[in-house]
Amino acid sequence: MSTSNLVLFDLGTGKPTTRQIAELVKKGGTAALTEAERRADAARYQEVTCRSALNRVKGMPFDWTLNPYRGCTHGCHYCFARRYHVQFEMDSDDEFASVILVKTNFVAVLGRELDKPTWTREQVALGTATDPYQPIEGHYRLTRGAIEALARARTPIGLVTKGPMVVRDRDVLLELSTAASCTVCMSVPTVDEDAWRILEPGTAHPLQRLRAVRELVDAGINAGVLMAPIVPGFSSSRDKLERTIKAIADHGARFVGCNVMYLQDGTRTHFMKFIAREFPAMTPRFERLYARKYPPDHYRNEVRALVRMLQQRYGLSKRNEPDDEPEAAMPPVDPEQVGFAW
Ligand code: SF4
Repeated sequence: MSTSNLVLFDLGTGKPTTRQIAELVKKGGTAALTEAERRADAARYQEVTCRSALNRVKGMPFDWTLNPYRGCTHGCHYCFARRYHVQFEMDSDDEFASVILVKTNFVAVLGRELDKPTWTREQVALGTATDPYQPIEGHYRLTRGAIEALARARTPIGLVTKGPMVVRDRDVLLELSTAASCTVCMSVPTVDEDAWRILEPGTAHPLQRLRAVRELVDAGINAGVLMAPIVPGFSSSRDKLERTIKAIADHGARFVGCNVMYLQDGTRTHFMKFIAREFPAMTPRFERLYARKYPPDHYRNEVRALVRMLQQRYGLSKRNEPDDEPEAAMPPVDPEQVGFAW
């Protein structure tokens, strides 16, 4: 059976569900997505319908997540969400950044869920498995619709993005800040241009993202920066960390948080392949540093201590990260002694 027959046979005339898409790709690969629209950015966009919008999570500082899209054309090589694309029978390499699922009924489904009398307005996180402000949001406006619905339901949110398009929605973000609470975390791991070009090929320039933070703060929104992830060997040197933190402070961010890259499942596979292909000389060092999911504690503590010292130097508040160790567990570090290239 040809792949186009598979589409007609399996999906009928309505929008397929994500489960049907996974079945289809399993049988015929992404070539079977004959109805996916190819746009100017060369990515293909497959419209799907979802049965639920709010996704319950446990053990996180938030209770629910929302993801109107799956996959992300920003294509960061370290992206932890790459591994989730495998759930849709797609690979965590090119297909993560070039085949995007668009949940067209997302806002309507979310509205129904928020209207239920049982909804208790717990914290909702946006941007946990895809960027809610990747370029296609300019066309579908699903993230904006979701924020409008959350504001009506007086539900607090935290949002992570690398998309300066978030500024477009400052009116509804402000409305939500008043109705409940709203924190926007702009992800800017580094302002180093080489690291940005290599690691985050589809994203806006870091300074453009920082200008968006300034605009949000000026509008009265609680906006700050996540330097996450800091990638050993690319953005971890003292000079790059200091330049980044100074730029964050110069743009008026309300807070800064950081985390060192971790590698797991499909993300590990993709990242190590990328390093072997583009920077083969670095492979042995990454293999040593990433014998496990995270680099060794002493390395992470060293990075955090340096970031903390720089935050203090530039007058930035700290944002608590989910896996932050208590202050007492951190070793005393003389900032001038910290000088790692990795
Ligand atoms: S912007 Fe975020 S979700 Fe998109 S690829 Fe980069 S890290 Fe992943």
